Amino acid sequence: MRGDAGTGPGTRNPEPGTRYDHLIIGGGVGGLAAAFRLRQRHPAARIVVCEAADRFGGVTASSVVDGFQCEHGPDSLVRTKPAGMRLVNDLGLGGEVIGTEPDARAGLIARGRRLVPVPEGLYLMAPGRILPFLRSPLVSWPGKLRMGLDLVIPPRTRPGREESLAAFVRRRLGREALERIAQPLVGGIYTADPERLSVAATMPLFLEAEREHGSLIRAMRRRVDAASASGPRYSLFATLRGGLGALVDRLVERLDGCELRTGCPVAGLARDGDGWCAATAAGPIRARRVVLALPAWAAARLVAPVDRTLADDLAAVPYAGVATISLAVPLADLDPLPAAAGFVVPAVEGRTLLACTFVHRKYAGRAPAGWAHLRAFVGGALHPGDTDCSDDDLKAAVRRDLGDLLGLRTEPRWLALHRWSRAMCQPEVGHRERTARIRTRAAQIPGLHLVGNGYEGVGIPDLAEQAERIAQPGEPSSK
Ligand SMILES: Cc1cc2nc3c(=O)[nH]c(=O)nc-3n(C[C@H](O)[C@H](O)[C@H](O)COP(=O)(O)OP(=O)(O)OC[C@H]3O[C@@H](n4cnc5c(N)ncnc54)[C@H](O)[C@@H]3O)c2cc1C
Repeated sequence: MRGDAGTGPGTRNPEPGTRYDHLIIGGGVGGLAAAFRLRQRHPAARIVVCEAADRFGGVTASSVVDGFQCEHGPDSLVRTKPAGMRLVNDLGLGGEVIGTEPDARAGLIARGRRLVPVPEGLYLMAPGRILPFLRSPLVSWPGKLRMGLDLVIPPRTRPGREESLAAFVRRRLGREALERIAQPLVGGIYTADPERLSVAATMPLFLEAEREHGSLIRAMRRRVDAASASGPRYSLFATLRGGLGALVDRLVERLDGCELRTGCPVAGLARDGDGWCAATAAGPIRARRVVLALPAWAAARLVAPVDRTLADDLAAVPYAGVATISLAVPLADLDPLPAAAGFVVPAVEGRTLLACTFVHRKYAGRAPAGWAHLRAFVGGALHPGDTDCSDDDLKAAVRRDLGDLLGLRTEPRWLALHRWSRAMCQPEVGHRERTARIRTRAAQIPGLHLVGNGYEGVGIPDLAEQAERIAQPGEPSSK
C-alpha cells in the first residue's frame, strides 16, 4: 500500500489558479476507478484526486504480517458482476487473479458449538436439492416441514408494500429458515438487520423466483439442475495474488499525470461559476466537474450547502460499522478444520462473532504451511455496540467464540484488529426509491457526480461499474 502523504507518484505540480477538468473527492477504490476511467477516455484532462487519509484505498488495504498475506477490508471480487474483473483486466492485473481453492467453496453455519455444512444445493435461503437438505441438522424437522410449505404457498401476485428480507423469508419459508439460514447468509453479506434489509434491493433474484416459479424451492432446484448441466463449478469469487491492496496500488500507478493528493480532506464545496470550488487546508481547488466518491453520509455533508433536499436523502442512507480481527495459530492448536471457506454465525446464537473466514483455505498463498490464518468479523447492524468495545474486550470475545467453535486452545501468534465505522451501507426497505431520487436530483446539478457504495450496490464491482458510467460518451462529466 502506498502510505506517502502529500502528492502521489506521477503527480503534475499544480500551477497556482489551475482550473481542473475533474476533481475527485475520495481516494478509495471508487474514486481511483473513476479517475482511471476518466483518464483513459481523456488522456489530456486535468484530474485531481483529494483523499483525506494519508494513504489511498479507503477500506481496501492489504499487508503482509509475519509471512501471512492479510486483508484489512474487502477480500474478494464477485465474478457475476463483470465490471470488477473488467477493471482488473484493464489495469493489466488479469494474470494476478486467483480463484477460491476448490475445497473451500462450501460454507458452514454455526449451531450451538457445531459447524454445520451448508447443505449441497442450498442457495442463500432456499434448498435446491432436497435429500442433502433433509439430512442436514441445520434446521429442525418442524422447520423443514414449514420450509416445504413454500411449494404450495401461493405467490404474492399483487404488488404490495416492499418487503424486508425477514418478512419475505418468514412468509415463504418460515421463521427457522430466517433465523438459521437467511439471516446469517444473506443478512451477513451486508452485516444487516434482516427486519430492515430490502429484499428487492439486495436479492431481487428471489422475488423473481417467486413470481416465475411460484416457489423458491422449485426455482432453486431448476437453478441447481441448470448449473450441473453447464459443467464443473467455477469459483464465484476471485482476488489478486497480492491481495486487493494491489488493485489500489495499480490504480495509483496508472493515474500517472493526474494530481494525487493524500492528507487532503475537502472541508466544503461550493458552486463557482459553471464549475466548482472545494475548500482544503492547502487552499481552494477549482474544477469544472466534481465526483464525490464517498460514503453517502460523507457526500451529504459536502452537498448540503448546494442542495439541501439531495443532502437529506444522502444523509438518510444507513450505514453500519464492522471490525475484522485477523489472527494466526498453528493448525495443530485447532480442531481439524472442515473443508470450507469459513463459517457464519446466526444472530440467535447470541455470539459476538458474525463470521470467520479460513483465509489460508480460501485463497492460495495466504499463510505459511502448518498455520491457520483466520479472519473474524464483528459488529454490523445487529451488534452496533460491539465495534466500540475496547481492543482487549473485542479480542477476548473473538478468542472465546473461536475457542467454542474451532477449539482454539492457545494464544494466537499475532492478532490484528481493523475497525471500519459507518462503512457498510444498509440497503433497507425504501433504498431503491431513495437511490432513484438521489440519482435524479444529482443529475440536475451540472457537473456533480456520485460514486459510492450507498447507491446501486455495495461491492467493488458495483463501484467499478459506476466509474465506467461516469466516463461514458454522452455523460456530461466525460466531456
Ligand atoms: C470489512 C469489509 C469487507 C468488505 N468485503 C468486501 C468484499 O469482499 N468484496 C467487495 O466487493 N466489497 C467488500 N466490501 C465493500 C467494499 O469494500 C466497499 O464498498 C468499497 O471498497 C468502498 O469504496 P469507496 O471508494 O466507495 O469508499 P471508501 O473505501 O470508504 O473510500 C472513501 C474515501 O474517501 C475519503 N474521504 C472521506 N471524506 C473525505 C473528504 N471530505 N475529502 C477527501 N476524502 C474523503 C476516505 O478517507 C476514504 O479513503 C467490504 C467492506 C468492508 C468494510
